[in-house]
Amino acid sequence: MAFDFDLFVVGAGSGGVRAARFAAGFGARVAVAESRYLGGTCVNVGCVPKKLLVYGAHYGEDFEQAGAFGWTAGEPRFDWPTLIANKNREIARLNGIYRNLLVNSGVTLLEGHARIRDPHTVEVDGKPCTAEHILVATGGWPKVPEIPGKEYAITSNEAFHLEALPRRVLVVGGGYIAVEFASIFNGMGAQTTQVYRGPLFLRGFDQGVREHLRDELVKKGIALRFNTDVARIDKRADGSLAATLKDGEVIETDCVFYATGRRPMLDGLGLENTAVKLNAHGFIAVDDEYRTDEPSILAIGDVIGRVALTPVALAEGMAVARRLFRPEEYRKVDYRLIPTAVFSLPNIGTVGLTTEQAREAGHEVKIFESRFRPMKLTLTDSQEKTLMKLVVDAATDRVLGVHMVGPEAGEIVQGLAVALKAGATKCVFDETIGIHPTAAEEFVTMRTPVAQ
Ligand code: FAD
Ligand code: NDP
Repeated sequence: MAFDFDLFVVGAGSGGVRAARFAAGFGARVAVAESRYLGGTCVNVGCVPKKLLVYGAHYGEDFEQAGAFGWTAGEPRFDWPTLIANKNREIARLNGIYRNLLVNSGVTLLEGHARIRDPHTVEVDGKPCTAEHILVATGGWPKVPEIPGKEYAITSNEAFHLEALPRRVLVVGGGYIAVEFASIFNGMGAQTTQVYRGPLFLRGFDQGVREHLRDELVKKGIALRFNTDVARIDKRADGSLAATLKDGEVIETDCVFYATGRRPMLDGLGLENTAVKLNAHGFIAVDDEYRTDEPSILAIGDVIGRVALTPVALAEGMAVARRLFRPEEYRKVDYRLIPTAVFSLPNIGTVGLTTEQAREAGHEVKIFESRFRPMKLTLTDSQEKTLMKLVVDAATDRVLGVHMVGPEAGEIVQGLAVALKAGATKCVFDETIGIHPTAAEEFVTMRTPVAQ
């Protein structure tokens, strides 16, 4: 049977664009459908605008500290609409770049909602196209638990378009997005409270890192409420909100920001017309080569619920394009040692095993740790402390994990991730000459394990 396309990609986000571009570059006839925004979550309501807001939020501290370096300026004032307008301009520029990337690589771009009609047919706004392979890369969407007053809550999607900075914000959740947005709102001057249902946020990160970040966020003025949750939200006559917590506390606020995880985006996708199955968590079930239970349909990125990070979606998109159209260059995605950063203020950067994971995996571990006041802050009143931590296998000397809380943690840990991938031992770290004066040099000068 002759198909209109060799590959039809649903969703022009991180994974979809990567797969479409490279497949077209390998000579395939490729179409991509996008219903909302080119570049997907990362470019429009994720990594990119988030990082721009984090930069914006840090200026508050920079202005405060500049005096210690001899600078005087007028009273700093923050204007949210200016930042949002500039951010929107940058995102529009990036949308254009994504359009050019697709068009210049010969991909047919169809702007509209895609619905799978049968295993080889996709309709875009009702117009059918056939393809030998269909790749679902539709990403995720915020999910908010069913509580009374849920309609008053916003999520990250809306936060990027707020008309004004709320005076008071209540952040709900304890994952990446909650911690990052608590730092954003707080840095910009909103009175910020964060509620998390468990005893300590960022479950799955190294315990020492979580405790260190908790202490730093408290120093910066974020009110943390752990071991509780929001029971209901009520709107007051003056338009403000009251969030009643399960422990009875009522938090008066102007904005309730929910970041309690994301669901796969399957709305109106037509999976019922296929044999595609979902896993126990509701994400599309795939094998280790991204094949669903329907032989012609593949899925990658957030919609498969493995590791919801842009570089992972990119790697999965690349793997699919190569396996289908350039098999001699195909390599499986290696999910070990994925570095990641949380862009809280201060940042977390991490790669490899946490202390707890290393012990659970049966390693006898040596922990090397350094806590210090960053040099840039020594002239200032800031009491912010940096944490650096190495988890080392006592038997083999291999570095199993690198963890940091401090400025530019993501930038530093990205480089160290290469060392871990190469199997570096603590001895290799010790033999590496530092760059002085930097914070990063601490990673190669820690000599004495801490008692744990
Ligand atoms: P997406 O990028 O979500 O793309 C899916 C696309 O499919 C969307 O454009 C959508 O409109 C389109 N689509 C959906 N259904 C249809 C349909 N039926 N028809 C047509 N089009 C459709 N990751 C990081 O690595 N670093 C970060 O700093 C980071 N920060 C983040 C901050 C926030 C607030 C959020 C929400 C996420 C963040 N992420 C970050 C995660 C990252 O954005 C995602 O992992 C990544 O975007 C996933 O890519 P994807 O291709 O799977 O899906
Ligand atoms: P996460 O899965 O990281 O965190 C969800 C949080 O919400 C957890 O603290 C979870 O608690 C809590 N939660 C879940 N359900 C409920 C509920 N019903 N009631 C109360 N609390 C609840 O999701 P995010 O939405 O923060 O982010 C989604 C993903 O996007 C991240 O996991 C990450 O992969 C990616 N991302 C990456 C970023 C980066 O690289 N810097 C930045 C932002 C997002 P518990 O732990 O107890 O289950």
